[in-house]
Amino acid sequence: MSTDSSKIITFDRMMNEVVALGSCCGCSMCVVTCPYDVIKYDDTSMMPYVSKPKGDFDYCPISEQIGCDVCANACERLSPYGMKPIRPEELDVRVFNRSREEDEYYGVTRFICAARSTNRDFVPKAQDGGAVTEILRTAFEEGVIDGACVAGPSEEMWLKAVPKVVKSAEELYENAMSWYTYCATPLMLKEAIDKHKLTKLALVGVSCEVSGYATNVGASTGYIAEERGRKNVDKQNKHFMQYAEAVQLTIGLCCTETFVLDGFFNEYLSEQCDIEPAEVVKLNVKGKIVTDLADGRRIETPLKEARVYQREQCNYCGDFSAEHADISAGGVGADGWTIIIVRSERGERIFERTVEKGYIEVRASTEFPVSMRVLRRLTEEQRVRADAQYASIGSSRL
Ligand SMILES: Cc1cc2nc3c(=O)[nH]c(=O)nc-3n(C[C@H](O)[C@H](O)[C@H](O)COP(=O)(O)OP(=O)(O)OC[C@H]3O[C@@H](n4cnc5c(N)ncnc54)[C@H](O)[C@@H]3O)c2cc1C
Ligand code: SF4
Ligand code: SF4
Ligand code: SF4
Repeated sequence: MSTDSSKIITFDRMMNEVVALGSCCGCSMCVVTCPYDVIKYDDTSMMPYVSKPKGDFDYCPISEQIGCDVCANACERLSPYGMKPIRPEELDVRVFNRSREEDEYYGVTRFICAARSTNRDFVPKAQDGGAVTEILRTAFEEGVIDGACVAGPSEEMWLKAVPKVVKSAEELYENAMSWYTYCATPLMLKEAIDKHKLTKLALVGVSCEVSGYATNVGASTGYIAEERGRKNVDKQNKHFMQYAEAVQLTIGLCCTETFVLDGFFNEYLSEQCDIEPAEVVKLNVKGKIVTDLADGRRIETPLKEARVYQREQCNYCGDFSAEHADISAGGVGADGWTIIIVRSERGERIFERTVEKGYIEVRASTEFPVSMRVLRRLTEEQRVRADAQYASIGSSRL
């Protein structure tokens, strides 16, 4: 970390240079790691806020008075080097102990393949090939995890995802599929540890949620003692580290954008297409948005039209393929199969075990040339989009 005091990572910098600027992806890691519950998560805006304000929106008395800033050091969108996110290569080192090689276009990669659940009844109920759910099932059965932070349907409306902690393989199946609204699964790390006393967790989330976790991995907490007040350092350190340390497996979902619930779902589907949200049984993005209804009808929306309802924060995101996950998963044009990127040793171990148990079948990526082209194109387009967004505020992504 820079010792230039203007570059110290602080709460007020995070609130100004990330939240107010509009680059906050909503990953929730700042809220999770705050030792004093000063910041909370707003489920509507999907952003952090000071829960008991005693001053401006960027004022935390603990940061100012005794020194803390744990939250800001957990923020992937804030770096010591100005208004830019932490570099992907830096997160590579934290998670994989090395930076990506030049030929690793998708980030650190051990292998890429296609996978599909061998349970034919389950595949249509999953988003793509159901591989994510089967890998998590194996992780439970093998004792690698005792809980998983996932997304699932809310009780009020299937279309609205809420973050959940699942504690058994059986529960996973009720929460398979993808919800294209933002759902802060890292928030559940706190609930899993503090409330359910779980110790070995899987985190499933879109790219920015996995990067949120990656930001905390092996992060130096030395700054707390060196740069800030010494009081309460132990408590602050514990909060900073414990969540990342409990995570035994991350599964990252490839992601180009999420949509604002009130926009795409209420305004577009409900008002323009006259569809009751309760009628929707599945959504998928395959070059267009495909909405399946309970009576068998299918609505197809060109992405260009739907993007009006995209969260603007996503423009700052250059990570399509969840580059810091143990295992990344995406549909990328493959019908009924999940395209898998295995990145870490622990990811490979659990993936291979899932194959040995007969829960998934695997095919070579060369059998999916269209998907490989889509993966390359979307990865590139997303980096270009983020570069342009950072350039528009006079900064740069890298
Ligand atoms: C918001 C979003 C955008 C995506 N965009 C793309 C894309 O542009 N291109 C692409 O190829 N793939 C995209 N994906 C990934 C794809 O939809 C599938 O999740 C992936 O292929 C895995 O399929 P599966 O059948 O193996 O997963 P399943 O076995 O069905 O399991 C899916 C898992 O994802 C979790 N989940 C669902 N929704 C969310 C959410 N909103 N936040 C966090 N976790 C969630 C579920 O809890 C479940 O554990 C996106 C996923 C999401 C959630
Ligand atoms: S500076 Fe510390 S106490 Fe204040 S919001 Fe951040 S983590 Fe919480
Ligand atoms: S940690 Fe995540 S939620 Fe918090 S300010 Fe940073 S990007 Fe936003
Ligand atoms: S595009 Fe990026 S910032 Fe937006 S939800 Fe997906 S992973 Fe997060």
